[in-house]
Amino acid sequence: MGEFDLIDRFFTRSPRPGGRTVLGVGDDCALLQPAAGMQLAISSDMLVEGRHFLSTVDPARLGHKALAVNLSDLAACGATPVAFTLALALPGADETWLAPFSQGLLALADAHGCELIGGDTTRGPLNICITVFGEVPVVEGHSQALLRSGARPGDDLYVSGSLGDARLALEVFRGRIRLPDEVFEAARARLEQPTPRVALGQALRGVASAAADISDGLLGDLGHILRRSGVGARIDTEAALALLASRPWPADAAGGFDAEQALACVLAGGDDYELVFTAPPEARSAVHQASRQAGTPVSRIGRIETDPGLRLIDRDGRVRSEGYRSFDHFA
Ligand code: ADP
Ligand code: MG
Repeated sequence: MGEFDLIDRFFTRSPRPGGRTVLGVGDDCALLQPAAGMQLAISSDMLVEGRHFLSTVDPARLGHKALAVNLSDLAACGATPVAFTLALALPGADETWLAPFSQGLLALADAHGCELIGGDTTRGPLNICITVFGEVPVVEGHSQALLRSGARPGDDLYVSGSLGDARLALEVFRGRIRLPDEVFEAARARLEQPTPRVALGQALRGVASAAADISDGLLGDLGHILRRSGVGARIDTEAALALLASRPWPADAAGGFDAEQALACVLAGGDDYELVFTAPPEARSAVHQASRQAGTPVSRIGRIETDPGLRLIDRDGRVRSEGYRSFDHFA
């Protein structure tokens, strides 16, 4: 199978009627027709074997994840997915890998009405780079995109869904902890097939003051919001710990994990693809309305403060002495 047969068989489909694609795969460029009153939101993410995924991962799950991490960036901006390109380096044209990979990728693409419009294919160590295109409305000259820079002192701090479970699964793969089978399978699905919070991001347009997606861990990604907004924050560690879906954990069993490690997974775990966002207290009912509309739970875990930096507040209201860097117990 040559390069062009491969593209034809696994990555070429007829354009969706009513979409923005004027011309898809096959020419030197794809052509998109932006809708009136919309801005394009664009983001790229690369997945490298050994660095971002294990070589043993199921190719259908890898196809899903490669697009999911990109859709998550659109979600963080409140953008509606439109299209994507796929640049692929492959060690060989292995159909038993390509078929499930493209099926996993295109199933998620279809679920979000996001069309594959082009890319590049080359021989090399397995590497997947996707660029997504989304759109955000411009209302009276103002972009409705959610940015990292809009957080203000007094704003509430929220996180969507659950956090830390993907990292737990990774620690199992690394042989550092053990989990009961059902707990592990659920955590593994979080690691290998993350759900981009696209509907929530869109529902938060005009409600959230700032947002980011959590790819590198809550503290790191929240840190981007704090720096870009010139503010600080406090996080209630009890509320944060409740974000871990995997439970209960065997506190004393050999190979289990304790509450301290659980908190480390929540705060610094990575690979969650949830949204961290802020909104003024007056917007609480609008935030809950957005959450219901999107079918995605959200939790309030702290607030934005004038003092720069991040403070972790324990159950007794004390500021924990550890800096947040030291919270990466796995670093
Ligand atoms: P060029 O030589 O101009 O870079 P190519 O010959 O590499 O174009 O690709 C031919 C067509 O196939 C182009 O439309 C390109 O966008 C598309 N394409 C190449 N690789 C992929 C891929 N992995 N997925 C989707 N489309 C692809
Ligand atoms: Mg090319």
